[in-house]
Amino acid sequence: MTDTSSSGILKSGVLSREDCLAILNTPDEELDKLLEAAFVLRRKHKGLTVAIQILSNAKSGNCTEDCAYCAQSRIADSGIETYPLISYEKLLATGKQAKERGLSRHCIGLSGIRFSDKAIDAFSEYVRKLKAETNTAICCSIGFLTEAQARKLKAAGLDRINHNLNTSRAFYPNICTTHTFEERVANIKMLQAIGFEICSGGIIGLGESKSDVVDMLLELRSINPESVPINFLLPIKGTSLEKADTAHLTTAYCLKVLCLARFMLASASIRCAAGREVYFKGNERDLFKVADSIFTSGYLTADGQTIDDTIKLVKESGFEYCIE
Ligand code: SF4
Repeated sequence: MTDTSSSGILKSGVLSREDCLAILNTPDEELDKLLEAAFVLRRKHKGLTVAIQILSNAKSGNCTEDCAYCAQSRIADSGIETYPLISYEKLLATGKQAKERGLSRHCIGLSGIRFSDKAIDAFSEYVRKLKAETNTAICCSIGFLTEAQARKLKAAGLDRINHNLNTSRAFYPNICTTHTFEERVANIKMLQAIGFEICSGGIIGLGESKSDVVDMLLELRSINPESVPINFLLPIKGTSLEKADTAHLTTAYCLKVLCLARFMLASASIRCAAGREVYFKGNERDLFKVADSIFTSGYLTADGQTIDDTIKLVKESGFEYCIE
């Protein structure tokens, strides 16, 4: 078994599957050692800054897919507000907020998995204008694209695309049956090949085992994304996972998952996404020793902390927020 002491991890080079499992199984009393080792890598690659990103839901609900955790899925009865692509003016308002507050990135989510060429043309125009008016980095979550659609978005100035793996290859059929894990990997590879930065991560708490968490991170390590968002499930009423048991999502376990992500993808942005305000409340100093990136102002279908409160939290934890 791996030496999970701070120096042992830092000296161990590329972690094996067994090493990774040993890290997730570290006794809680030894968590400080993991945090110490993660903090060394975090400081080396990301300094002491926390990138704060803001999320716009540009198209909500009515998705054809059946992702078990998602309020926008066709099988969810979540009562969320649904709407087609919002107006450019609305998107610009959030983009301006990001720019004025010096946030690092404007992330834009569109529900759905496949888009018509006409829809991509319209959205590319939004991206082109938004870049010209805000000059903020833009990342977009936009399902599966054809190569021609991806090239259009690239030419419009889109910087990064978010496409999560969500869980392990083996566990994927338990959370979605309308598309496959392999399609997700293929989409990411196509996007990387045409020069997009990639944001890809997962969700913890879907019913997966620790082995699944390790397998997902091993897949992510081979993809090597610039940004790795790790979400911690907040069960949403009306979704298939509304009664999911999240008792094992203790702060210590969630920190171990983030530490492992940092050890495996040392130079990537490790983003603590959904669940931050719940599972890490009061433990932000430890969280920021590992994660260098968070969201403000909520998630696609859930509320979050205000921008002012998020900035205050980062500063009070002894870190600085940054413009990437
Ligand atoms: S996660 Fe994306 S693809 Fe899956 S149901 Fe939600 S919006 Fe659709």
